Amino acid sequence: MAQVRIEHVFKRFGPVTAVNDFNLTVEDGEFVSILGPSGCGKTTSLRMIAGFEKATEGEIYIGDHCVSSSSQNKFVPPENRDIGMVFQSYAVWPHMTVVENVAYPLKIQKVPKEERLKRVNEMLELVHLGEYGHRYPHQLSGGQQQRVALARALVAQPGLLLLDEPLSNLDAKLRESMRFEILSIQKALGITVVYVTHDQGEAMAMSDRVVVMSKGVVQQIGAPHEIYTNPANKMVADFIGLVNFMQGEVSDDRVYLQGTTASFPNTSGVSGSATIAVRPENITMSRGGGMLEGTLTHRFYLGDAVDYRVTVGDHDVRVIVKGADLKEFADGEKVYLDFEKVMIFDRE
Ligand code: ATP
Repeated sequence: MAQVRIEHVFKRFGPVTAVNDFNLTVEDGEFVSILGPSGCGKTTSLRMIAGFEKATEGEIYIGDHCVSSSSQNKFVPPENRDIGMVFQSYAVWPHMTVVENVAYPLKIQKVPKEERLKRVNEMLELVHLGEYGHRYPHQLSGGQQQRVALARALVAQPGLLLLDEPLSNLDAKLRESMRFEILSIQKALGITVVYVTHDQGEAMAMSDRVVVMSKGVVQQIGAPHEIYTNPANKMVADFIGLVNFMQGEVSDDRVYLQGTTASFPNTSGVSGSATIAVRPENITMSRGGGMLEGTLTHRFYLGDAVDYRVTVGDHDVRVIVKGADLKEFADGEKVYLDFEKVMIFDRE
């Protein structure tokens, strides 16, 4: 299995800097996701690791091998990088059976037929397609085709598996069950994985660490819990989970919530104008004695929770109460809010 090291990597397409000074070490056997909105540079980053795209600047190492270096003018093509890759479009060959598809990388490596079939069958068992070897892709569901692609990516036992939005074409239920399948295969093989997704739930559920990107720049690298509870900036707070942003002003080491009398200790380095952020599930709502007085304007029943909107001064605050009874609070009612785990950011 392989460690991946990315050092000061840039990718420019003419005037567009798609990836701007990317630095990351993925440890041996680790599952790391690159997460961000459309166009943030995550696919380009993965394609540079794979060798489908050449970095404009910087160095990439897979295991002990330097596979891309602008200073040494070195570039190893994808087929010599010891990687397996799975794309959003399943990219299985329609004219080949499942067995032929999965056997293909071994055929290229001139693995003898008997050994080839043994390894293909082992791999098909691993992805639960043992019974489907003779079928053609058009005789399979999307989820099954994606498992063929996964088996084909893994059959040559690469040190590194690269996955680019592999679940995006699947329906929500299948997507969720495939998360667990991919994870259990990764654990069974102990393989290093770099996984690209725009789906924060997927990244949070699957990864040891998440790299959050925006506009070509890495915003934060951390364990899912760390990124959720301690986001480095407003972009990360907004992209991961739900958050209320409110305007505030810092004075005497306290942050005053604009349009109200409420204040919080300034735990940040921010001075002057500040943005106060609090997640909807970190707000308690009651009928009396809270920090902030507001008016309940809307209620949305979610089954396991109720999602409320409360007007507080100039702010429309979202409050999610788990296990709540829809009838507990009524529209137009005066309520009191208490904030926990308040985050404070620079307004810029
Ligand atoms: P998505 O989720 O939509 O695939 P992404 O985060 O993977 O987005 P990239 O595909 O890496 O983003 O693209 C990053 C930026 O680089 C975008 O602005 C994109 O338009 C640009 N870009 C990507 N490939 C090329 C190319 N071959 N030529 C010119 N610009 C490109």
